[in-house]
Amino acid sequence: MKLPTVGGALQPAGPGRSERRSLAAATARAGDERGAVEPLAPGDPRAGVKVFADYDGEVRASCEVLVVGSGPGGSVVAKELAEAGRDVILLEEGPPFGVEDFRQEAGESLARTLREGGMRAARGRMLIPTMQAIALGGGSVVNSAICARSPAWVFDKWAERTGTASITLDALLPHYQRVERLLGVSPTPMEVQGERNLRFKRGCDALGLSSEPTHRNVRDCRGSGECFTGCRNRAKMSTDVSYVPAAIRAGARVLTSVRAEHLLLSGRRATGMRGRTIEPFTWREGAPVEIRAELIVLAAGCMATPLILLRSGAASSSGYVGNELQLHPGLAIMAVFPDPIDPWEGATQGYHSLHFLEQGIKLEVLWSPPAVLAARFPGFGHDYQRHLRTYHRMAPFDVIIAAEQSRGTVRPKRGGWDPDVRFDYAPRDVEKIQRGLGILSDICWAAGAGSILPGLHGVPDELRSPEEAEILKSKRLDGRDTITAANHAFGTARMSRRSRDGVVDEEGRCHDLDNVYVADTSVFPGSPAVNPMLTCMALADRIACGIIDRW
Ligand SMILES: Cc1cc2nc3c(=O)[nH]c(=O)nc-3n(C[C@H](O)[C@H](O)[C@H](O)COP(=O)(O)OP(=O)(O)OC[C@H]3O[C@@H](n4cnc5c(N)ncnc54)[C@H](O)[C@@H]3O)c2cc1C
Ligand code: SF4
Repeated sequence: MKLPTVGGALQPAGPGRSERRSLAAATARAGDERGAVEPLAPGDPRAGVKVFADYDGEVRASCEVLVVGSGPGGSVVAKELAEAGRDVILLEEGPPFGVEDFRQEAGESLARTLREGGMRAARGRMLIPTMQAIALGGGSVVNSAICARSPAWVFDKWAERTGTASITLDALLPHYQRVERLLGVSPTPMEVQGERNLRFKRGCDALGLSSEPTHRNVRDCRGSGECFTGCRNRAKMSTDVSYVPAAIRAGARVLTSVRAEHLLLSGRRATGMRGRTIEPFTWREGAPVEIRAELIVLAAGCMATPLILLRSGAASSSGYVGNELQLHPGLAIMAVFPDPIDPWEGATQGYHSLHFLEQGIKLEVLWSPPAVLAARFPGFGHDYQRHLRTYHRMAPFDVIIAAEQSRGTVRPKRGGWDPDVRFDYAPRDVEKIQRGLGILSDICWAAGAGSILPGLHGVPDELRSPEEAEILKSKRLDGRDTITAANHAFGTARMSRRSRDGVVDEEGRCHDLDNVYVADTSVFPGSPAVNPMLTCMALADRIACGIIDRW
């Protein structure tokens, strides 16, 4: 049998053990003098990574640290441990995306960048679409780049739930700051807001609601509104062009198109991982892969990390693996203005309001490929075309909620590697999102909208006045009356002080395993209240610093 190694040009080139950085050094960079941290320069996501065409038969390799998943969580850990002198392999199931690999057409883009072609949904009383990427860089390649710190009270709530008293805003602050500096996170400038975002601000201002430009991990954003299908301007500092190239520069080996499937276990330790190569876009299985490692960090995302643990029969003593799935359900309505606003111009999600955040409600401007939004227009034939003709006057605004009462599960699906996702949307959370919908409607009118397309069952297709829109507040909505989607998912390998309350400890290490860590949104004990990426990265940075310190 031919057993090519995966070293060669990608063999680690980082410092030797004696030169390895200690936690003191790592956290010094995360401390107050972090102004010295140089922002990462955007790199080529394909440079130095192994791709499917590079594999010729079975793949075997060994390393000190195996990181599974190159999204916001995994890429941070890979870079930090590689820079600390560890011999790191980063495994990613998806391919790297060069600019020419992105597709603007929605269907084609979904099929190439998202799991299950973008059609994944949580099942319960209703279907709730939930998107996860399959790409080097994970969700950061397709997301809107919103980087928001969770407020202090989020961590208090987490501690109440699972005892994670050491995870406070103060403790995470240096990690937030370091990630922000490395990614160049800054407020969306007015010049690239576009009228769609500015109308939302106008509505909030008129109602006396606080609102602000979103902070994003972008450089020289041109406001093209294409974040969802991949930034062709390479302005978005997704992890495939930031943290992953930095990890490679520090000697990490990056193997894309490899799916990690099972942990190899020996007592309380994992000795490696088995998986397969996966052909990009056909998603056909290729050759077996076996990687031996001294330490493993799972960061395959909130849907895949629990599947790996469940299929390996690992970390299961608490019974929490794959349970406690939480989502941020979201609803959008379309404001139709009397004058053209060309909504395709401007940063994808340039403005938001945190005014009702403590009540679990976040209000945002939205944009996605025109075909995706148009699928929600009401009517048929002439009526449908009437809406298409007014597209240039429309702006989608959305509400997302911290669905504190709702829970779900992630389980392996028979005969495949996709998860069986279930989510019970609690009536009290539906009431909460309806409240947000009512506020959004007020924002639309205050911003000067002439009508609203609410996209709700049992409500007129078009509401032409604030009086008509009262129905959005007065009618008792059922979750099934809505088109709810949720791209923020967390909680399926939650962090807890005591081993019986969760899957990993406050350092991210599995309670049941001595050398397996989790560093993605699975570990959140509850909602982060805001968009989750930045908190995921700050936690991953903290987990990486902890590993460096203890090893
Ligand atoms: C359309 C969209 C817009 C969003 N907008 C924002 C936003 O603006 N701001 C924000 O904060 N959040 C946003 N989010 C959410 C955010 O992107 C996610 O919370 C974040 O990406 C989660 O990071 P992660 O590392 O936990 O997982 P992921 O980003 O899902 O990364 C996991 C990686 O692991 C890989 N993987 C999975 N299984 C395996 C396996 N078995 N073997 C090898 N590799 C595997 C995946 O391909 C993926 O690359 C958005 C999400 C979507 C889908
Ligand atoms: S709005 Fe356009 S230029 Fe700006 S980050 Fe998104 S895709 Fe890139």
